[in-house]
Amino acid sequence: MTATDTTTNDGTTNDGTTNDPGPIGERDRFDSLDPASGEVVGTHPVHSAADVAAAVARARTAATSWAALDFDGRAPLLRAWKALVTHRADELADLVHAETGKPHGDAMLEIVLAVDHLAWAGGHAEKVLRRRRVSPGLLMANHAATLEYLPLGVIGVIGPWNYPVFTPMGSIAYALAAGNAVVFKPSEHTPGVGEWLAEAAAEAIGIPGLFEVVTGFGATGGALVTARVDKIAFTGSTATAKKIMAAAADTLTPVLIECGGKDAMVVDADADVAAAADAATWGALSNAGQTCVGVERAYVHTDVYDAFVEKVVAQASEVDAGSGPDADIGPITMPGQLEVIRSHIADALARGGRALIGGADAVDDRYARPTVLVDVPEDALANTDETFGPTLTIARVRDMDEAVTKANASRYGLGATVFSKARGPELARRLRSGMTAVNSVISFAGIPSLPFGGVGDSGFGRIHGADGLREFTRAKAVARQRMPAPLNLTTFSRGPRTDRAVKALVGILHGRGPKRA
Ligand code: NDP
Repeated sequence: MTATDTTTNDGTTNDGTTNDPGPIGERDRFDSLDPASGEVVGTHPVHSAADVAAAVARARTAATSWAALDFDGRAPLLRAWKALVTHRADELADLVHAETGKPHGDAMLEIVLAVDHLAWAGGHAEKVLRRRRVSPGLLMANHAATLEYLPLGVIGVIGPWNYPVFTPMGSIAYALAAGNAVVFKPSEHTPGVGEWLAEAAAEAIGIPGLFEVVTGFGATGGALVTARVDKIAFTGSTATAKKIMAAAADTLTPVLIECGGKDAMVVDADADVAAAADAATWGALSNAGQTCVGVERAYVHTDVYDAFVEKVVAQASEVDAGSGPDADIGPITMPGQLEVIRSHIADALARGGRALIGGADAVDDRYARPTVLVDVPEDALANTDETFGPTLTIARVRDMDEAVTKANASRYGLGATVFSKARGPELARRLRSGMTAVNSVISFAGIPSLPFGGVGDSGFGRIHGADGLREFTRAKAVARQRMPAPLNLTTFSRGPRTDRAVKALVGILHGRGPKRA
């Protein structure tokens, strides 16, 4: 592929024919393209399965020396990487803008959040993972018990294009902080960002192989899954997640799966309607809707429905899609997504929905303009499937029970939002999602101590927070006998007297409890 090719970066050409890269190894370079203009941003290798295996081997060597540094040795090196990314954030934001099309300010926001997570992971790894004594219990009181969380070795990270810094760093930073090496396969749409992060890590940390990047298409990612890494952390679609799980089963490689969502906002009668509308508009439209925890549906109490709709429409009408410095949202990064967005809007309209702004003509060959839909049946695609575009459906509900029931009637369960003055935390707990923001939107993603991940088709496992550190470790349990046991249970010389004594002891310890009435 050359700078003059009319090939989009999902491998389809502008005349609609496919440009399948073919089996890995046959093509050795590919271009990442600016989705706003189609211009080439950079050229990258298509790494073959052999390349991936070599990267994993280098990472495995690095993992040994990295783990041997222990927390004290690793923390300052992670801080050096964090400082380098911070100092060069403008340069990275330019690259994110070029490869994804998102406004520079949005690119900077995701970098700032990623740096904050890197700081938290490096600063808290020791506290969360270090060896600690735990109670052995009365039966085993002659033992000392310790628990620690040891690195797994090499983590394969397969990342998406929508937040090419923030999202993969949720795995990369936490995996490194936990003492692992990483091999990262960025999306074919954002390979330059992946390489930039790894080069910065190499410069700041100076351990060759610690953070390897392999670039290419799905086959390169597939090769990483079967390269006998110690865990795969995947972010992307549910369909690809299933393929990855199936491939990983062969080598019993554990997987962490972060897929998309169909996140709902519920708005109660007592909510600050202006704040809720502002949050819904930003949550649905920012990053052109290409946010796994973006708001795609809103269920609004009938008492405030009209005011909410009016405010959302007024705000959304002001949101400009474009590539200039004043644009609020950029192009759709992945060309194939345009048809998904178009089809969800068309399906909603065909089934009785009304577009209050946007609609059938909102999607062209690079951009999707804001679309606010009402009266959309619950089983329409715009309410059931991830749209990943700047659309929002708004539905009127009689009360919050109906809102929660409808919000939960999804096979996804990633994030959610509640606006209510009196019942925020209660409603939040009833929503089937990994994270919920109350009276704000997507705020959980910016709090490094909170774990991030979903249920159902949104995946499983957690990045961020203490759970996110432990995700890239194995629990190591040690029981050390301090003195001979008064009752030795683990010997064939144990006699009936010991058994009777144990039974009596268990009766005293556990035999009493409340009786059922
Ligand atoms: P995919 O799930 O196809 O791709 C995600 C990542 O997996 C990319 O790095 C991709 O590489 C890689 N990959 C693809 N096929 C394989 C495979 N067989 N084995 C290993 N790795 C593989 O998502 P898309 O980018 O195509 O987006 C499709 C949809 O997924 C979106 O419309 C959106 O709904 C959802 N999505 C959700 C995200 C989230 O944040 N939860 C992020 C991105 C997408 P390559 O890019 O080179 O194909």
